[in-house]
Amino acid sequence: MGMSNFKEGSDSEDFGIDYAPAVESTSLLNIKEKYGLFINGDFLDTSSSKFFKTLDPSTEKPLAEITEASAADVDKAVKAARNAYEKYWMNMSGAVRARYLFRIARHLQERSREFAVLETLDGGKPIKESRDVDLPLAAAHFFYHAGWADKLEYAFPQRKIEPHGVVGQIIPWNFPLLMASWKLAPALACGNTVVLKPAETTPLTALLLAEVIQDVDLPPGVINIVTGAGETGSALVEHPNVDKLAFTGSTEVGKLIQRSAVKRNLPLTLELGGKAPHVIFEDAALDQAIEGVINGIFFNQGHVCCAGSRLLVQESIAEHFIDRLQKRIDLLRVGNPLDKNTDIGAINSKSQLERIDKLVNAVIEEGAEVYKPSCSLPENGYWYPPTVLTGVQQSHRVAREEIFGPVLVVQTFRTPEEALEKANNTPYGLSAGIWTEKGSLIHWMAERMRAGVIWANTFNKFDPTSPFGGYKESGFGREGGMHGLAPYLKTKRKRK
Ligand code: NDP
Repeated sequence: MGMSNFKEGSDSEDFGIDYAPAVESTSLLNIKEKYGLFINGDFLDTSSSKFFKTLDPSTEKPLAEITEASAADVDKAVKAARNAYEKYWMNMSGAVRARYLFRIARHLQERSREFAVLETLDGGKPIKESRDVDLPLAAAHFFYHAGWADKLEYAFPQRKIEPHGVVGQIIPWNFPLLMASWKLAPALACGNTVVLKPAETTPLTALLLAEVIQDVDLPPGVINIVTGAGETGSALVEHPNVDKLAFTGSTEVGKLIQRSAVKRNLPLTLELGGKAPHVIFEDAALDQAIEGVINGIFFNQGHVCCAGSRLLVQESIAEHFIDRLQKRIDLLRVGNPLDKNTDIGAINSKSQLERIDKLVNAVIEEGAEVYKPSCSLPENGYWYPPTVLTGVQQSHRVAREEIFGPVLVVQTFRTPEEALEKANNTPYGLSAGIWTEKGSLIHWMAERMRAGVIWANTFNKFDPTSPFGGYKESGFGREGGMHGLAPYLKTKRKRK
């Protein structure tokens, strides 16, 4: 790294013991060499397909060849979804639709170890996260929405409700199965059929979900999965026979999609980037706040749209807090994502690693101080150590742009008013965190912060009953809870 202002971390808390490796076995996986598109209840023949490879980002070894769906393939998927909508799904009662969702949820639970291992292998996230967060939450979303399927009229009293029809859904690579569940479960519960496009670097758990869809006997065409890159996503967005779009990903692509949807007056929900302020007041319970900050930025290598990536710490405790934070970071274990002791896994792709590196190097040149622990990183694969940047100015790119990596940007404040002003000084508005023992201060801040989700004395708590979504450039529309059903329905006032 060789920067003059680079401070090496120390192994200060050496207890003289080390963890024995505890690597999760991959023997229960049955990854195919090649995957066809999942359309109309079946994997299509691959004899004339174009393929791309999906890699294990911790080793750079290819895992499988994945079909790159063309515009004609997307058209086939949309036709299958339309046919399934008209033939089966729109005529089924909510109670029957619910049964399918319950079945998917139970199958996810039964095969959760297999899904978790595959998610970690394809995406690079630590197994303890895919096992304890992604999988339980994915199943919970299907259970929760199964419960709504036959009660929608109670969610929207005095309203006539109708599904949109065929929904196009595009998801990112940071929570592949979980984002698929966030999107599929409410769409199906509300009576829509779906064409889903997973991210290029993480298609495998969506394709395993296709097997579950077959096992639960979901009518063919209700869920179709088209793999591919941005062009496949674009073909889905532009398709004239899609009735609603839902997208999670970068603000840049979200804006492109919005432009296209507006022209056709197409209903759209966008869940985009974030630059969440994580505000620590001087009276906060510091041990808990340190853990909250660590979880807020290093969970899933910081590949999290609602990550607490901007630490705002009150000046009176800043030095002490940052010192303790750095000591805690020294203890984080970076390495094999399949090891159950790993805290920080691999960066999802080479291009994401390059993006993180570029943003951090630029701010070091501009005079910020960087702290990284002296951990050794594996030779192959894509890795970035947990990093803390201090001396950051609001004008620096890292203070404004989403880094989407394990990099925490630190700024200080003196008064609640200053904390609020700095917290809201961002084009994004997805999430925020507040740590203080004073309830009135929590309320004062929460009422004035412009963020869709605000956590107080905790961070990264998710539940399917709780709506999630943003303000400003973080998008619009909510996912989860009753609010998350609304985008999947047309509602009209009932005539008396
Ligand atoms: P993208 O927004 O490009 O990817 C999200 C999804 O959209 C993927 O399935 C992608 O396909 C697809 N897509 C890409 N281009 C188009 C298009 N023109 N029309 C329709 N669909 C499209 O995010 P990236 O993966 O490129 O990540 C770039 C940055 O975005 C990250 O560094 C991070 O800052 C941010 N990001 C934010 C996320 C969030 O949840 N807020 C999630 C992911 C990224 P494909 O995978 O093939 O590119």
